[in-house]
Amino acid sequence: MSEVAPLDSVPRKFSELDLKPELQSAIAAAGYVTMTPIQEKVIPVALESRDITGMAQTGTGKTAAFLIPMLQLLEPSGEIQALVVTPTRELAIQVCGEATKLSAGQGVRAAAIYGGTSIGHQRKELFAGVDIVVGTPGRLIDFIKTAVLRMRYLKWLVLDEADRMLDMGFIEDIDFLCKRAPLSRQTMLFSATLPSGVMNIARSYMIHPEEISVSPRKMVAERVRQTIYGVSQDRKMPLLFKVLEAEKPDRCLIFTARRESTGEIMRKLRERGWEAARLSSLQEQRHREGIMDMFRRGEIHILVATDVAGRGIDIGDITHVINYDAPMEADDYVHRIGRTARAGREGHAISFVTREDNAILESIRKYTGLELPVHAPDGAVDAAWGAGGSGDDGAGRRRRRGRGGRSKGEPVGAHAGSGSTAGGGRRRRRGGRRSRSRRDGA
Ligand code: ADP
Ligand code: MG
Repeated sequence: MSEVAPLDSVPRKFSELDLKPELQSAIAAAGYVTMTPIQEKVIPVALESRDITGMAQTGTGKTAAFLIPMLQLLEPSGEIQALVVTPTRELAIQVCGEATKLSAGQGVRAAAIYGGTSIGHQRKELFAGVDIVVGTPGRLIDFIKTAVLRMRYLKWLVLDEADRMLDMGFIEDIDFLCKRAPLSRQTMLFSATLPSGVMNIARSYMIHPEEISVSPRKMVAERVRQTIYGVSQDRKMPLLFKVLEAEKPDRCLIFTARRESTGEIMRKLRERGWEAARLSSLQEQRHREGIMDMFRRGEIHILVATDVAGRGIDIGDITHVINYDAPMEADDYVHRIGRTARAGREGHAISFVTREDNAILESIRKYTGLELPVHAPDGAVDAAWGAGGSGDDGAGRRRRRGRGGRSKGEPVGAHAGSGSTAGGGRRRRRGGRRSRSRRDGA
């Protein structure tokens, strides 16, 4: 079987959503391909017009999480249908920009309304007819009181960065806006934290809001494609070759448990024709930086490191992390794999686990909330690993998500059964001396 990676926890793509073609095009033009975790959770609920409280760290894409369902349902009319309230003018401008970007080609007009500038221009914009208004509380209320801004046709009220608005003393303004907006509206509240003041707003002005939150550690873990292989210690090296040949990674970080094994793995990779180097905490800083520069420039494709040495690696676009040895702690696992998911890129993390790693595997599953089934080196799900724990009774099997559907009945590879080494499974493909032609031309 040449294919190596049955994928679990693949982030979902916008293209899988049933959205208007113009909206799909605008999303693609914005460069968004996979949904962030908060988007994945908020968008389907918002499309059902339900109230939502959404909590996630800043920078996780909350803006598009509320704009996309809104744009899907909005029919442009020149009447204000959506009101997004933000704490600052900078944020109002930014959200309005995002609305303009995501509504491209849909005939939707958006305006930013904020204090500190002349009223005339903004009033003209409103009179000319807009569908989406993004603004700060003070100026919005001025316009509402003077009947420049009418909320009669309002369908969406969004309170963005609600915690910050409360910190800035906007509670009465929010009360005012929530009371003025028609009851039939959908209300969405976004916040990085949910202090009691924010909960009070939700209780007072929202109808059975769906509470959606994404914790940081889970977000990292969910963004990365993860594959776990069950393998005995002495079969790790052949499996590593196989994985590398299948994945042909551009920038791959391999983690080992011991400093001594970094050198050994590096040498074996070089013998096999890979440009590999290792990072060691014993190396001089200048030497380390030289290695990292080469890695950045793509002259080295593989770095082998321990957790300690790996910590200093600050390179944005690592494509693969391979855990040659399991980490000691669950949060080391998240740190390691999180290196592939910087800046919204997708990464692939591949982990080798032995029987001795059962306990840590189980704690990684708990920590990330992911099922992480174990695959035999030939790619089939190895049911014998399912239950975790330290026994090898082989009985339990975790529930799997619908993805990658590999049936459990498939032949289990070298690793079925007990923890002994894969004596019977010697027929592994040697693969010969495969040169890395794709790389050589580059
Ligand atoms: P938040 O409101 O959660 O702080 P933003 O909505 O401001 O986050 O988004 C942060 C950044 O991420 C923005 O630059 C935005 O363009 C970008 N972004 C949002 N969603 C995606 C996505 N699905 N893929 C890639 N980038 C995204
Ligand atoms: Mg935001």
